[in-house]
Amino acid sequence: MAFFFKIFHVEPFSFTLIYLNYNLISIEGLQMKTSYKEMLARARSQLPQQVSEYKRFVTPKVRSSTIGMRTIVHNFGEICNMLNREPTHLLKFLTREMATKAGVEGGRAIFQGKFQSDIIERLIERYVNEFVVCPVCKRPDTKIIKEKRFTFLICEACGARSSIRLV
Ligand SMILES: [Zn+2]
Repeated sequence: MAFFFKIFHVEPFSFTLIYLNYNLISIEGLQMKTSYKEMLARARSQLPQQVSEYKRFVTPKVRSSTIGMRTIVHNFGEICNMLNREPTHLLKFLTREMATKAGVEGGRAIFQGKFQSDIIERLIERYVNEFVVCPVCKRPDTKIIKEKRFTFLICEACGARSSIRLV
């Protein structure tokens, strides 16, 4: 601002020129932004639907509270539904990792002991990586099947069959 003001006083014509140039640049910048957005939109619309819809699987948030020496996960049933896993399977994994006992009551899980929700969340994330997400295509559309002594994670998206451990 001070710079333009100085020039204005010395030579009004050059001020106008610089000012006009400045405006031109900002208009160009704006046009570039718009066309970049358009380009992105066009590129996205040309992608196969499957690719554009694919998002990295996000571990569900844990809603929990501690009452006395117990921790209640209020949305345990919801989490199991989202992961498409049996509540007993996830509960077994969690109680092993947390070295405690737990039970399911309605849609809630009740653990013996005090546990922060972020700790439970991190464990669920590990569970998801090991027992839900396909190691080949990273999608969560999988199911667990047992064959003789072995357990497999079958991916419904890419067809991969990966051997997994028992919880
Ligand atoms: Zn897969």
